[in-house]
Amino acid sequence: MEYLQVKSTNPEILEGGENGGAVTAILLSLLENEDVDGILNMKKHDDVYDGMPSYITTPEELLETTGSLHCAPIMTADIIAKYLKDSKIALTTKPCDAMAIDEIIKRNGLNRDNIFMIGLNCGGTVSPLKAEKMIELYYDVDPKDVVSEEINKGKFIIELANGEEKDVKIDDLELEGYGRRENCQRCELKIPRKADIACGNWGSSKGYTFVEINTERGEEVIQNAIDKGYIEVKEPSEKQVAIRKKVENVMIKMAKKKQKAQLEKEYPSPDELQDILTRCIKCYRCRDVCPICNCKVCSLEKEYLQQSPEEKPDPLLMHGIRMGHMAFSCINCGQCEDVCPVEIPLAKIYQRVQLKYREETGYVPGVTSGKPPMYSPDKEEVAE
Ligand SMILES: Cc1cc2nc3c(=O)[nH]c(=O)nc-3n(C[C@H](O)[C@H](O)[C@H](O)COP(=O)(O)OP(=O)(O)OC[C@H]3O[C@@H](n4cnc5c(N)ncnc54)[C@H](O)[C@@H]3O)c2cc1C
Ligand code: SF4
Ligand code: SF4
Ligand code: SF4
Repeated sequence: MEYLQVKSTNPEILEGGENGGAVTAILLSLLENEDVDGILNMKKHDDVYDGMPSYITTPEELLETTGSLHCAPIMTADIIAKYLKDSKIALTTKPCDAMAIDEIIKRNGLNRDNIFMIGLNCGGTVSPLKAEKMIELYYDVDPKDVVSEEINKGKFIIELANGEEKDVKIDDLELEGYGRRENCQRCELKIPRKADIACGNWGSSKGYTFVEINTERGEEVIQNAIDKGYIEVKEPSEKQVAIRKKVENVMIKMAKKKQKAQLEKEYPSPDELQDILTRCIKCYRCRDVCPICNCKVCSLEKEYLQQSPEEKPDPLLMHGIRMGHMAFSCINCGQCEDVCPVEIPLAKIYQRVQLKYREETGYVPGVTSGKPPMYSPDKEEVAE
């Protein structure tokens, strides 16, 4: 049972679900059967630009979380490592979440047995602030009038309160500096195969979620959800499986093209890079948000690196240290770039280093099994 098309049997889930509502139905099955203590997924708060991670413990709350939020790039890996480490949880994971969780597990920061990962295929996310601006500029509507959005067939589509739909080609938006975040444009992992199941719409029949089953636990959970009446399933045809593979390959090819353009052709020269990095105000937000930076005691806090008791290390020294400690595991999630108050293109810089390291070692963070070749055993002592 490698691929299935899955549909919820609950009309409310079907109505709100992005595709067949399989994700919500499976989460409901896990919650109601007490297989997990809670669920971490993404909930729309004020509007479509306000997707927030939510820890859910009741079916009623869960039913409010159906649908995909493409303007919610926030990640869940760091949250579970920091706050839910000892709980048994299920969570929705984009490929970058799944990669981050895999790297945290390698650093002994999480126990895989406690986590049920429902993967979501991912073509990319849009920064919420940029999305509002982009909608004003290219769709000529008040961003507050948008009730839902989706990315489909190369277009970013919005639906307004009056039912009207408007779309613009993602390529056109990206040429103007809008559309998907730059790191997402370069992201080459489209299907999270380290998750127990990976869910998406590529290749699926209308009203169904296309599910790839990746682990034995994934198979068990699907079987339980079938047996207890939460979902109905049908097998995809060979043609549907082939379509999904074809789209995945096209997306990977596009990402590699963007890597070449953004990390080689348009990449700053060493002098420019030095200037860019000296903009850093040493707020440490990039370190704090990075899911790979999860040492108990950060080297940057060491006394000998402080220039004076009040002053933090020089930005170049700081990034040099961070780079040496984690760039080989950078998953290009873009969180550092999103939070940097002086707009340093951090994900670009760190991903470029990772790709050079990958060329030498073959290590793909969040995908290759085992620890990265340069991983220091000393770091293990400080990781939880
Ligand atoms: C940003 C994004 C991009 C995607 N791109 C593709 C794609 O290119 N190709 C493809 O085949 N599929 C893609 N998907 C997956 C697809 O949109 C559906 O999520 C999937 O098919 C499951 O549908 P469903 O009806 O079973 O989910 P539902 O039952 O509607 O459940 C959706 C679940 O996803 C969670 N969720 C919503 N937004 C996010 C988010 N930003 N981060 C984490 N969890 C979230 C919700 O909380 C909910 O639990 C993408 C999903 C997201 C979130
Ligand atoms: S980094 Fe990749 S997986 Fe993460 S949101 Fe962007 S495209 Fe999706
Ligand atoms: S360095 Fe930035 S892009 Fe790389 S893993 Fe950390 S937060 Fe993500
Ligand atoms: S977030 Fe930006 S300003 Fe803050 S420490 Fe990191 S690079 Fe420097």
